[in-house]
Amino acid sequence: MRYGLVGYSGKMGQEVQKVFSEKGYELVVKVDEFGAIEEGKPDVIVDFSSPSAVPKTVELCRKYSAGLVIGTTALKEEHFQLLRELAKEVPVVQSYNFSIGVNVLLKFLADLSKVLSDWDVEIVEAHHMFKKDAPSGTAILLKNAVGREVPIHSLRLGGIPGDHVVVFGNVGEVIEIKHRAISRTVFALGALKAAEFVCGRKPGFYTFKDVLFGGE
Ligand code: NAD
Repeated sequence: MRYGLVGYSGKMGQEVQKVFSEKGYELVVKVDEFGAIEEGKPDVIVDFSSPSAVPKTVELCRKYSAGLVIGTTALKEEHFQLLRELAKEVPVVQSYNFSIGVNVLLKFLADLSKVLSDWDVEIVEAHHMFKKDAPSGTAILLKNAVGREVPIHSLRLGGIPGDHVVVFGNVGEVIEIKHRAISRTVFALGALKAAEFVCGRKPGFYTFKDVLFGGE
């Protein structure tokens, strides 16, 4: 596989390069906030950067007829619109969290929330001090899975790759469901899975749940 990487000089960009090069995949297009280096035709473009990069990313996918794997968070409706348009032409996998654990959690959280419909629920998330957005994209995914108004508390400290706790409580008891990403490698491994899924796939808008569970 030949791939392009938007955000190649960033923390996630470095992780993606490590994981993809271990598989022998070749980086042929590198983009960051300072410019682009294009040295070949990518089969897929991976984007872990910033919402402001989305128009450029979409343009590159069109130029090379390349599928897209995008993990950038804090996207607005205008960005989703561009991605949905692109997905009519090439496969696009978008997820605010490329870990297996969080996506398994999302699967059962909706059911749990229904069973605990009269319990209070809040989300606490903690990330490293350099993270630009709050709440995290993952906290938004968890909130959507819970399916009701959920206060989200965001901590920004130290080097935490990503902790999320969903806390359900009634007057007599508390249930806490916690996910901890031990390193960023887990997200890069998920992006790798998604990039392999994209190759040879028909155009469409997919999530990481589709990659893992076949779109159930
Ligand atoms: P970072 O600040 O370390 O790196 C950001 C990269 O994006 C840099 O290379 C920077 O030059 C580039 N960039 C910024 N603006 C750009 C622009 N307009 N055009 C092109 N490139 C641009 O950030 P990070 O920790 O690597 O995270 C990057 C993104 O990935 C964030 O949105 C973060 O929330 C997200 N993220 C997603 C997941 C997931 O599983 N979906 C996991 C971790 C991080």
